[in-house]
Amino acid sequence: MAGYVVGVTGGIGSGKTTVTDCFADLGIVIADADEASRKIVEPGQPVLDAITEYFSKDILDETGRLNRKKLREIVFNDVSKRKALEGFTHRPIMDELQRQLHEARGEYAMLVLSAGLGTSPLIDRMLVVDAEEPIRIQRVMIRDGSSEALIRQIINSQPSSEERLAIADDVVENNSDIDQVRADVSRLHARYLELARA
Ligand code: ATP
Repeated sequence: MAGYVVGVTGGIGSGKTTVTDCFADLGIVIADADEASRKIVEPGQPVLDAITEYFSKDILDETGRLNRKKLREIVFNDVSKRKALEGFTHRPIMDELQRQLHEARGEYAMLVLSAGLGTSPLIDRMLVVDAEEPIRIQRVMIRDGSSEALIRQIINSQPSSEERLAIADDVVENNSDIDQVRADVSRLHARYLELARA
């Protein structure tokens, strides 16, 4: 079990995956809240039954999987339904992440908290990945083929860089090339090993 957990957050296209891939190359286990939130609603999971009971079977697609887009749209406009959904999912997501972190070997592990601001009782320290907005937009346009307008809309719906930086213990300023990311990761890895041993 990893005794020390570093949280990772950052807006769309900031480079969370790029950064955590570099930590993974160093043998660090990465738990991901987005992945866990998808896993706990797979067919056969009790959370999916609870969601179906509350939102009706209309929330499933033709293969019986959760229609996440439809669910997002419903709860976006309805606070009480959003709260109900969180009531079904919050604890199982936390349990899943706790399980992954518990099983993680190594002196420390990482927990990617993409969506919200990213505070969590599971973490000891927060790493924020950031990049200048035009760079993020450019990278996501290339990665996803999305329009600039859509990416701006997503950026505006997320916490701002300033809000994230306010809760950061460490920051990777990802405005340069991958070699720079590797150098930053190597420096942070040494620091996290020190902290985990302390
Ligand atoms: P999301 O929140 O959308 O999941 P993310 O924060 O995980 O995004 P990445 O997917 O890591 O961001 O990076 C966005 C894109 O930019 C990817 O295609 C990635 O390969 C590229 N990228 C990230 N950092 C760099 C860099 N320093 N140099 C060149 N390309 C980069």
